[in-house]
Amino acid sequence: MIKRTGFVVSVQEYRESDGLVQLYSEHGLETFVLRGLYKATSKQTGIAQLYTQVEYLFEERPSQIQTVRSGRLVESFREYRQDIHWISYLSIASEILLRVNRESPVNLSFDAFSMLFSLQNPIKYLLYFMADILINLGLGANVDECVSCGSPQVSAFSISQGGLVCSRCLKLYHPKIETSSLDVLKQLRYLFKANLAQFTSILDFFTEVNTVFEIVVDYFEFHSGIHLKSWDFYRKVYYNSGIGG
Ligand SMILES: [Zn+2]
Repeated sequence: MIKRTGFVVSVQEYRESDGLVQLYSEHGLETFVLRGLYKATSKQTGIAQLYTQVEYLFEERPSQIQTVRSGRLVESFREYRQDIHWISYLSIASEILLRVNRESPVNLSFDAFSMLFSLQNPIKYLLYFMADILINLGLGANVDECVSCGSPQVSAFSISQGGLVCSRCLKLYHPKIETSSLDVLKQLRYLFKANLAQFTSILDFFTEVNTVFEIVVDYFEFHSGIHLKSWDFYRKVYYNSGIGG
């Protein structure tokens, strides 16, 4: 038997009454079948809840979806899930995982994803997770110099150009310029430069989190070609709750 501990990022019905669970662990994203999950008598519902941490035992069969023999709930994060914002961050991160994984399996960003469950600044760790995924896909922003001419004198961030640009290049192109606020530029730079430990040590530095978040989502959608449905949900939650905006 093999043991796998990870986070449940998707649960859906499969065949008659089975459940199909996508589990994200340091082994990447894997699909498991839970037999009879949707039967009234099922005792497995406790290990098939979204955004919980579970442990599955299974016998590995090559090139097949694995069937869970037994499992246990490691952490329910019950107090977190009262928070609609936390749920929306998790749904964005999970959608990114599920959509990106179709093209290139991801497991490198698992540590960043895990930090979303620490409840210390989950939105900041969502930002970090998105930047980390982009870097792992080879789509990271160029934040060292002007992405067009290499000048160190940068004055804006351009989504279409893929990074920081100088004032001269800003005039040459007609990119969608997201911001020229120096604070935001610095925060974008650190976001794409810092490793997880460094990022954790400078969390307080990220004061423009909502602006940076919108830029990173736009950047992600533009460069990955993936439109995030969960982002639409987030906007609804965010603007209806009256914070920021
Ligand atoms: Zn330039």
